[in-house]
Formats: sequence, structure tokens, C-alpha cells
Amino acid sequence: MDKMIFYSTNLSAPEVDFKGALLAGIAPDKGLYMPREMPRFEVDEIMGMKGMSYAQVAFAVLRKVLCPGVDSRDLLRICEDAYDYEVPVERVSLDNFVMRLDRGPTASFKDFAARLMARLVQYFMRQKNEKITILTATSGDTGSAVAQAFFGLDNIRVVVLFPKDEVSERQRRQMTTLGGNVTCAAVSGKFDDCQAMVKEAFADEGLSGLNLSSANSINIGRLIPQMVYYFYGYSRVASDGEEVVFSVPSGNFGDIMGGLLAREMGLPVARFVAAVNENDEFVRFVETGSYSKIVPSRNCVSNAMNVGHPSNLSRLVALYGGQMDETGRILKVPRMDDIRKDIFSVSVSDDETRDVIKRVYDEFKVVLEPHGAVGWRGVEMFREGANGGKVVCIETAHPAKFPDEILRAIGVEVEVPLSISRVEGKDEYVEFLDAEYSEFRSFLLGKFV
Ligand SMILES: *Cc1c(COP(=O)(O)O)cnc(C)c1O
Repeated sequence: MDKMIFYSTNLSAPEVDFKGALLAGIAPDKGLYMPREMPRFEVDEIMGMKGMSYAQVAFAVLRKVLCPGVDSRDLLRICEDAYDYEVPVERVSLDNFVMRLDRGPTASFKDFAARLMARLVQYFMRQKNEKITILTATSGDTGSAVAQAFFGLDNIRVVVLFPKDEVSERQRRQMTTLGGNVTCAAVSGKFDDCQAMVKEAFADEGLSGLNLSSANSINIGRLIPQMVYYFYGYSRVASDGEEVVFSVPSGNFGDIMGGLLAREMGLPVARFVAAVNENDEFVRFVETGSYSKIVPSRNCVSNAMNVGHPSNLSRLVALYGGQMDETGRILKVPRMDDIRKDIFSVSVSDDETRDVIKRVYDEFKVVLEPHGAVGWRGVEMFREGANGGKVVCIETAHPAKFPDEILRAIGVEVEVPLSISRVEGKDEYVEFLDAEYSEFRSFLLGKFV
């Protein structure tokens, strides 16, 4: 097969191959890269994944997309190295399953994408023998997954900006106890300030010597690996090519975009449930066909999904034949009826979220954390429409990341996995910055040039 081609959702940048899209992060016209066409799987090939490990499924799926741009033996080695942890798929009740994507080094599903992306960036940088600087603004989970994933890789340095008072201690320690090629800056400001400083740095020609790129989910390198667990989950529960439903707790819509792209590759998915918290801009968009973002976003217990304007929406709109620019303006209306047919979208309140954690524990002795509980409520609402078939609900974080919520809801002290406990008590390496671009700029130049 020929190399895959990626276009920009703003339609005014040149098309690129995967390497170009991965290393650039965002297209020069500020659009997001999307594959022009996906390779397809036959149902037999997908059913053949039943006996494979996660790393083997990853190789089978990614080989179709990334080779020949990536050598296939190198890709196999990268998959085996990135995915050396468990991916449990648990049956909760008759046809309802939970897939736990929380066993990676930072206990959120973001490890799946960050670990593969880091190894691919390293692979390409070694070929060029150049250095690249990955800038990331984070409200918690992205920064820790990216910092852990890129830690110790040569030719790459990572700079993570986070709001000083708005990340949990556990999240902060996942980033600041590494040192080495990972530089962390605690900013006196909000997440939006960090995001703005990073964006300004990308546009700053005086920093071109740093060879900046992004590891946020605007990067297509974050989405491609997220197709894999849909194939894996499907292969664990389905037989004979039957159609399955996935429920996906969503914020920036990167996770569900991975699923939608997997379906383009032939994965038999009847429908996706897009479950969001009280930030319900997508639900209203699907209902009414008109889009307005929520500014500022609403603070909910499922805090990694507090997103008032999902950056991947422009990709979803593009997949359905429309066009949305980076500000959320719709330039061409997508096929709304097809979106409604494929995606059942629901908004879940904080009260319902806490109620689900309690009910699912009482009834099934299964512990969910707030994000997974939003997904589970989505499953329940989907079933209320008398919908049958198997449903896989994605659990995106480990309950030990939310000990207080879990204790309050079900009176259980969650066992803390090693991934979280091993950073406790270690030295932290962190710099402090005001929320001023000029200060950030001199910091970068002083440190790296
Ligand atoms: C990032 C995150 C989400 C949201 O995923 P998107 O790809 O942004 O939709 C959900 N749950 C957890 C725990 C996360 O860290």
C-alpha cells in the first residue's frame, strides 16, 4: 500500500504524510490533520485478533496505517515496548462490559497514545539526527502521560506548563519527579493562560531554533494509537462479526475520534455513545444542528472532561463532510442525520455521576471513577431506548486518582497502584513562572539556546 495522506481541516495547507503531520502537530493554516482515506480490514482479519495480545493487535492495526513510512520490524518493537501492561475487559452484566484503560504508568487512557507517539517521534528524530522540543499545556492528565512517555528518550526535550494551583498533588508528582529531559513549569494562572503561552510560542519565529511541536490531542499522532483499543475491546467480546456499541466518556473528543476512525477501517460498530458531563455543547449541536461553545467551561467532578469547545470537533465535522474552523465556526454543514445515526449523545450531571458510582458498586461490586461513571450513565440511557446488543464502556482513569470521591460515594478506600505510589516522597524538579509570555520566552531561550 502507498503511504497515507493527511489533509488540514481548514483546507488551505499542503497535504503531508504521517511523519510530516506528527512532527508539525498543527497544520500551517491552523487546521488539524485528518487522513484522506483509511485502509480497510476484512471481518475475518478482525476476528483473528481474538487470540492476540494488546501489543500484537496494535501492530496489526498500525501496520496498515503507518507502514511503509515506518519500517515494520521497528513498528513491532515499538508496540511491544509501549504496551507492556494489562488491558482488562470485564463483564459487568449480561451484555455490558467495561474496558479499563487505566493500567499504564500514569493511570489514565492518555498513556496509550502518549507512549506510542513518543516512540514514533524518537524514531523519526533519530533518522534526521535533530533535536525537537515538545511543548505541552496541561490541566493534569495529558502533561503527566506525556512527561512519563517522553522521559529519557534521546533527541527530544519536553516542556510542560501547568497551572500552579489547579492540578492535584498526584498529577503534579507524575510530571515533576522525572527531571532529565523533562522540564516542568508551574504557572501562576489558569490552564487557559498556559495554553495561550504555548500557542504564542508556536507562532514566535524567534523560537524556530527550538524546533517546537505539540503533544496535545490536536496532534494526529495522539489519535492514531487510540484506534487500537477499539479493535482490541471488540475482539474480546464479539463473535462472528456482530456489531458492538462503544460508550466513550468525552471531553476534547480525541478518544471517540479514535473509535470513529476504527469504524472507517471496517470495525463493526453499531453506534457510539458520546457521554459528556455538564459541558453539553456537543449534545446541543447534535440536537439542533447549530453549535455554540461554552465559555468558560463548567467545573464538574469528571474534571478531565471540562471542555467547552472540543478541539477535535473540527475533525468529526470533517469526517461527515462538513467544515468547522478552529474557533468553532461552521463553514460547511456536515451530514447531521448520519451523525445522529452513528452517535447517541448524552449529558450527565454531577449528581447522576455520583449516583452511578454508588449504584454500580452496590449492584455489581464494580468500582468506577467519575469519568467512567459518565460513560456508564450513557450506557443506561442508551438501553432505556430498548437497544440490544453488546456494549463496551470505556473507563478512562484509575479510581485511585479520585480517592475522596470514591470514599464519599461507596465508603471504599481504593488500593493505590504502584504507578501512583512510586512518585510519592520523591524530589520534585519544577520552575515557577508568571503568566506572562515574555517571561516564558526568556525562560526557553535562556535554558535551551
Ligand atoms: C482526557 C480524559 C478524558 C477525555 O478524553 P478526550 O479524548 O479529551 O475526549 C476522559 N477521561 C479522562 C480520565 C481523561 O484524562
